[in-house]
Amino acid sequence: ALYITDQCINCDVCEPECPNDAIYQGELIYEIEANKCTECVGHFKEQQCVVVCPVDCIFVDPGHTEDAQQLQTKYTQLTGRA
Ligand code: SF4
Ligand code: SF4
Repeated sequence: ALYITDQCINCDVCEPECPNDAIYQGELIYEIEANKCTECVGHFKEQQCVVVCPVDCIFVDPGHTEDAQQLQTKYTQLTGRA
């Protein structure tokens, strides 16, 4: 899963782009719900939030590193699609 650093300027462009509805407005900045973020695996080749973020403040969450297979499994669990 990815996470958003405190460099976030709350511009809101990432939230509607997430295919898993994993991004939400937190108390101070936007946040990513780790158990919903597949790093866009299953949906897109590129991570949509990273593509649109104007300040490049979205990175792999060191506490939630997953390999391609794990992300694919998460996608299947979230969507019911293989
Ligand atoms: Fe959503 Fe994809 Fe960003 Fe994860 S990487 S938060 S799934 S847009
Ligand atoms: Fe924050 Fe980047 Fe999302 Fe804008 S696109 S709300 S700066 S994480």
